[in-house]
Amino acid sequence: MIVLCRTDLTDAQRDRILAAVRGLGVSPQVREQEGRTVIESPAATDASRCEIERLAGVERVFAGEPGAHFVTWDYRPTPTKVDVGGVVFGGPDTVVVAGPCAVEGLDVLLEIARAVKAAGARVLRGGAYKPRTSPYAFRGLGKDGLEFLAAAREETGLPIVTEVMDTRDVPLVERHADMLQVGSRNMHNFALLAEVGRTRKPVLLKRGMSATIDELLTSAEYVLAGGNEKVVLCERGIRTFEHSSRNTLDLTAVPALRERTHLPVCVDPSHASGRRGFVAPLARAAAACGADAVMIEVHVRPEEARCDAQQAVLPTELAAIVRDIDALDEVLRRTASARAEAVR
Ligand code: PEP
Ligand code: MN
Repeated sequence: MIVLCRTDLTDAQRDRILAAVRGLGVSPQVREQEGRTVIESPAATDASRCEIERLAGVERVFAGEPGAHFVTWDYRPTPTKVDVGGVVFGGPDTVVVAGPCAVEGLDVLLEIARAVKAAGARVLRGGAYKPRTSPYAFRGLGKDGLEFLAAAREETGLPIVTEVMDTRDVPLVERHADMLQVGSRNMHNFALLAEVGRTRKPVLLKRGMSATIDELLTSAEYVLAGGNEKVVLCERGIRTFEHSSRNTLDLTAVPALRERTHLPVCVDPSHASGRRGFVAPLARAAAACGADAVMIEVHVRPEEARCDAQQAVLPTELAAIVRDIDALDEVLRRTASARAEAVR
């Protein structure tokens, strides 16, 4: 049994909990973790678990293997809204995040930033640190890239989301970005998750390419356990036997996550498909099935993109996607209000 205590646990509450656990005939082990007391003891019955869970100062009791708590509806029964520089994820509108795969230079970034803003995107994306399969591929401009992103925000007013790959870079990326992206390859990097959990910046956590919904949720739990509850989850395609697209977009993840968590959900049709022509239909499908945001790779000259060129759409294509998503949002809001009326 694992007893997760509240952060405001008093000494008296702690003593009562420990006495109650000892009263079950087992000896507890106490550790301090992420500013929280965690009490571990050998297996307990369901009845004793319920008894401990009722005690003041207890946040949650896990009977066997601990799982997620702060990401669940048990912890927060209302949907979380994450504010990124004034843009709300988890509100009534599907947020469109758009920009290049990688920051390639100041001029081209500004060109893309202006174009995605004109097309209706609300947040600018772009990697300054790129996780590349080969170490010899373009791995991003690093600090210069962050400064270019900040300049693009300055000019367009669009908040920026960019990936952080290394715990050592968190303070620097945190100073420049409005939202920290943890990429698919780092979803299981628990040190990085704990580090972004210590910041108070919104986090876009991408699903590992072979990760289950449970694993995505427990990875998000690392961030929330650190006290940072501003997390948006992102489905970006999973690896399957199918090779007609780069990955397989698991749209089932949207309702599956909705069922389990109060956190907003984003869908990335660009990395999910790897194909320019597939991005618009998948983005529409994501909005139609209730995604809170979509993230799309855009380039003004896709053939010149230094990274993921085959999946970059043009700003004109992005504008059409934004129009379709706005129309879908409108229909879905109408359906939701009609449903609410029918219930009344
Ligand atoms: C990205 O969004 O820039 C990216 C690298 O995606 P992923 O981590 O999903 O592969
Ligand atoms: Mn990319």
